[in-house]
Amino acid sequence: MERKIVYWPDKGLNTPTRPVEDFGPELEALLEEMLEACKKADGIGIAANQVGVSLRLAWIGQEDGTFFEIANPEILQRSGNVTYEEGCLSVPDQFEKVKRFEKVKVRFQDRTGAWKELEAEGRLAHVFQHEIDHLDGKVFVDHLSQLKRGIIRERMSIFKRRNG
Ligand SMILES: [Zn+2]
Repeated sequence: MERKIVYWPDKGLNTPTRPVEDFGPELEALLEEMLEACKKADGIGIAANQVGVSLRLAWIGQEDGTFFEIANPEILQRSGNVTYEEGCLSVPDQFEKVKRFEKVKVRFQDRTGAWKELEAEGRLAHVFQHEIDHLDGKVFVDHLSQLKRGIIRERMSIFKRRNG
């Protein structure tokens, strides 16, 4: 099944997702569909609620171009500050600088349910925070000023009219 990207503003994007409880073939199939949608749109990460599924599940893209899945992630430690230009598959063609933690230590499950821990920094740490934000019901535009968010909202209404 081809999964369509949900565009902001959307209620599902601003609603916290439910924990993953069943690790099995259905989860595998959903993960493959999410990755396909992500790659098709040239993304470096995708969260389940971006394809309309309320689950605490996402793909994280690494700098070498490979991706790995995360289920039920939690940030255990945060340090430093860094600002990068950020974009989002749900907010096409809009890029803004967002301040994030420079380093994060994250705990998450893989597709089999096994727990893993990872310390990430730089771009990877940024992607982790962006995707975990999605799972918490937050989009990167929620970090911007009301004025900037309003401008992007206006551009998105034009985009939505053009793209059905
Ligand atoms: Zn995003």
